[in-house]
Amino acid sequence: MLTHDLVGFSNVVAAIACAVIAVITWRRRALNQTFAVALTFVMAGGFWWSVALAVVVAAPSSTAVGIATLVTFPGPSVLVTAFMCLGLTLARPQWVPRRWMVLALLVEPVLITVAGATNPWHLLVYRGPGAAQLTTPADWTYGPVFWLDSAYGYVAVAVGLGLVAWGWWQAAPAFRTQRLAVFVAALVPLVANAAFLAGGFHDAPDPTPIGFAVTGTIMWWAIFRQDLFTFSPVARALIVDQISDAVIVVSPGGRVLDLNPPAVALVRDLDPRAPDRLVGASAAALFGSYRSETSLSASDIVVKTSAGRAEYHVQASPLIDRRHRDLGTVFVARDVTAANAVMRRLAAAHAQLVRQVQTIDALRADLVELASRDPLTGLHNRRHLVERFADIFDEARVTGSTLAVALFDLDKFKTINDDFGHLAGDAMLVAFAQLIRELAPADALVARWGGEEFFVALPSADEATGLMFAEELRHRCEQSSIVVAARTIRCTVSGGVAAYPTAGTTMDELFHAADVALYEAKDAGRNTVRLAASK
Ligand code: GH3
Ligand code: MG
Ligand code: MG
Repeated sequence: MLTHDLVGFSNVVAAIACAVIAVITWRRRALNQTFAVALTFVMAGGFWWSVALAVVVAAPSSTAVGIATLVTFPGPSVLVTAFMCLGLTLARPQWVPRRWMVLALLVEPVLITVAGATNPWHLLVYRGPGAAQLTTPADWTYGPVFWLDSAYGYVAVAVGLGLVAWGWWQAAPAFRTQRLAVFVAALVPLVANAAFLAGGFHDAPDPTPIGFAVTGTIMWWAIFRQDLFTFSPVARALIVDQISDAVIVVSPGGRVLDLNPPAVALVRDLDPRAPDRLVGASAAALFGSYRSETSLSASDIVVKTSAGRAEYHVQASPLIDRRHRDLGTVFVARDVTAANAVMRRLAAAHAQLVRQVQTIDALRADLVELASRDPLTGLHNRRHLVERFADIFDEARVTGSTLAVALFDLDKFKTINDDFGHLAGDAMLVAFAQLIRELAPADALVARWGGEEFFVALPSADEATGLMFAEELRHRCEQSSIVVAARTIRCTVSGGVAAYPTAGTTMDELFHAADVALYEAKDAGRNTVRLAASK
C-alpha cells in the first residue's frame, strides 16, 4: 500500500515536472523552433501519461480505473513520436518537418487513441474478464494492438536515442554535455518501462512516468545550466551556417570538429581531392600550407582557387569552456580579395596624389625663387633684397653686431651701349655680376639694384671690411675686360660704402648714406670708392 501511494504521488510530481518543462520550453521556442516544439510535445505526452496513471492509482471505482487505463494511450504515443523528432533536430540541426511528415507522425497516436477509446467493442488492446464492461482492470490482459503500440513505442524511442547518440557523437565538445544530458534523460523512463513490462514491479502501477520526472529535471538542468536552447545546434546553424564567412572549428588535437557550408566550399576549392568526410579530418592536412605563424591572431593569407587568386583574412579564436578547458580553436576566414583590391587602388591613388602635391610644391618653390631673381644676371632682384635685408638689419640691431652695405654703379655705362650696342651692355652687366658673385662672402646678400647699379650687404662687416671689399671689387673690374664681336670692352665702377651703426641707425639712413658716398665717388672722378661719413 505504501508503494502504491508512493507511485501515485510520484506520478503527480512527474505530471507537474512535465507540465512545467513543457510551458518553459514552449515559451522559449523562438530560440529554436523545431527542437522546442518537439520537446514540448515530449513533455506534454509525459504529462498526459502521468496524470492518467495518477488517476489509475487514485481512482475510487474500478470503472474509473478502466477508463483512465484506456485514455492513457495518447500520452506515451505522442511522447515517443515527439522524442523521435527531438533526436532528429539534434542530429540534423537544419531539419524542419514537412506537412506530409507531420501528418504521417500523427497516424499512430490517432490510431491508438481511437483503438483505446473503442476497446470495449473490439477488445484488441485489452482483453480478459471485465474488459468489455470496464470492470476489474487488474485482471485485463494485453491484446495484439497493445503489443503493436508497445513495439512502435520501442522502435520510435530506439530511433530517437540513436539520433541523439549520433548528434552527440558529431557535436563539437562544447555541445557534448547537453547532448549527453538529453541521452541520459531519455534513457531513465525507458529503463523504468522495460523493467515494468518485464514484470519487475509485480502488481505496482507503471513507473515509467516517474522516469519522466527525472527526465524533466535533467532537461531543466540542460536548459538552464547548459544553455540547451541558446547554445544548441540550431542556434549554431542560424549563426554559423548563415554567415558568408568560412567557419572551421578545430579540436585541441588538430582535427576538424565542425565547419559551415562556406568552409566546405573553400576546402573543396583549395583542394578538389580533399576527403569526402571533412569532420574528423586533420586540419594540418587541409590547411597546413596556409597556416599563419601566429596561430592565435588575425592574418591575411593568399590562396590559389579555381577562380584564380584569392585573399582571406583569417581570425583564430580559442574556444574555452566555463572551467577554462581548451576545447579547440574557431577559425573564421573572410574573403577580402575585393576589399584588398579597393584598398590597393586607394593606396595607389593616394601615392599618386602625394607625388603630385610634391611636384606642385617644388614648382611653387621654383616659382618663388624665379620671382626673386633678375633674369639677366641671375642675381637677386630689388624686391627680394628689400625683404631679406630687413631680416639682416634686424639681426645686426638685435645682436649689436656691425653691418656694412655697398652700392656700385658702372661708370659711363651709357657710352658702352652707345658705342658697342645694347647686347654688349648686357654682356658687361652679366660679367660684372659674375665678379661680385666670385668676390662676395657666402653670407653676403647680393642684388641688382636696378639698371647698372648693384647692392651688397655684408653681415658682421665693419667700415674697414666693407671698404676693403668695395675696393677689391673696383680693382678687379678695372683689371677685367670682355670681348664682344672681336672687340675688347672695359668698364670701371664706382662704389659707396656705409656701415651700421656708424653711418646710420635705420635702414633708410644706411641706404641714403651709401648713395651719398657713391655720388661722392662719381664726383671724385669715378673708378673709386668712398666711405660714408660717421653720423
Ligand atoms: P655715370 O658714370 O654717371 O653712372 O654714367 P652712366 O652713363 O652710367 O649714367 P646713367 O645712369 O645715365 O646711364 C645708365 C645707362 O644704363 C642708361 C641705360 O640705357 C643703361 N641701362 C640700364 N639698364 C640696362 C640694361 O639692362 N642693359 C643695357 N644694355 N643697358 C642698360
Ligand atoms: Mg646709374
Ligand atoms: Mg652709371
